[in-house]
Amino acid sequence: MRFPISMTAGMARYIFRNKRQPRPEWQQDHSADNGASNPFKIIHHGPEPGAHRAPHPMIGRRFPLVLMLEPLHACNLTCTGCGRIREYESTITRKLSLEQCLGAVDECGAPVVSICGGEPLLYPEIGRLVEGLLKRDKHIYLCTNGMLIRKRLGEFTPDPRLFFNVHLDGLEQSHDRAVEREGVFKEAVEGLKSAKQAGFKVSTNTTVYQETDMREIEALYEFLEQFHLDGHMLSPAYGYTSVDDREIFMTREDVHRKFKDIDRLAERFRLNSTPVYLDFLQGRRDLPCTAWGNPTYNTLGWKGPCYLITDGHYATFEELMTKTPWESYGHGQDPRCEHCMVHCGYEPSAALGINGKPGDALRLLRWILR
Ligand code: SF4
Ligand code: SF4
Repeated sequence: MRFPISMTAGMARYIFRNKRQPRPEWQQDHSADNGASNPFKIIHHGPEPGAHRAPHPMIGRRFPLVLMLEPLHACNLTCTGCGRIREYESTITRKLSLEQCLGAVDECGAPVVSICGGEPLLYPEIGRLVEGLLKRDKHIYLCTNGMLIRKRLGEFTPDPRLFFNVHLDGLEQSHDRAVEREGVFKEAVEGLKSAKQAGFKVSTNTTVYQETDMREIEALYEFLEQFHLDGHMLSPAYGYTSVDDREIFMTREDVHRKFKDIDRLAERFRLNSTPVYLDFLQGRRDLPCTAWGNPTYNTLGWKGPCYLITDGHYATFEELMTKTPWESYGHGQDPRCEHCMVHCGYEPSAALGINGKPGDALRLLRWILR
């Protein structure tokens, strides 16, 4: 994620402080603990339990960077690739209270909060939630499908720490097909236009599927240039088991192919993905999963191990951090992680400098200054 320089400096200070003095209780390895006390069902795909594992490069350094806060799972759309509305179908009418949301934010302590869902603009207290987060000096990505921006814009005040992050998976025809409703693209564009005109920061969020034509993503960014947006997020889709249409998801090799020309796009447009993460998507460098960098809180509790797969929900953040067998997840450890290259698992690894190479710092600085 990209922020104004003053905020980037604050984030760098937070990372430096936590890398220097990580909380010891968050750093334990539970990978071999597959007993009844462990609420997670671990599917061992790599070494057998107890066998030697190469230490995780960030072992002894776990801490949260971005909290994924889901105040509700209800949505006004039914997108083809959405795992959320399917996985949480039985609890879709539940909502977190404002106090629960802010309590989770304080408990976690991450400097960035991504408000997602469901559709967060359906949350009755969304204005007060954002206000509460800004009072806590959090940087906010409000992830929305854009349908309700115009209706609810009056509940917010522009702030450099607040971004409306609008979901757009392609130009009008493709986007409306992906969200399974005509007119959504037009309304989302009207929404982002209104937000920009009112002085808000606005970025877009695009998920890349097997059928995505990257030339269309380029055309989408060209179209959006007229609105002078504040960045674009781009990530390959995760293959949710709850989504029946398996054809839409990609293998790692598919992702490498799909993102092979991403550098050219990154030169032309303001991509919010870090250069190291883009290297990873192109298959130029390996990164380990650092899902603990992006914890998720929703109506069932702290979702473990990550935003994408669910082996359980914990009542407290402390429990999520101390009881999750983090070492049992990631590429080569769990079959469900095999083709995952999604930003919430790997952007923290890039931000934390894992598997760093000479020149990374300079590239990062260039990226921040652009
Ligand atoms: S807008 Fe988001 S939450 Fe709603 S169905 Fe689409 S992907 Fe899911
Ligand atoms: S690799 Fe992906 S699916 Fe697996 S734990 Fe990490 S973020 Fe979750």
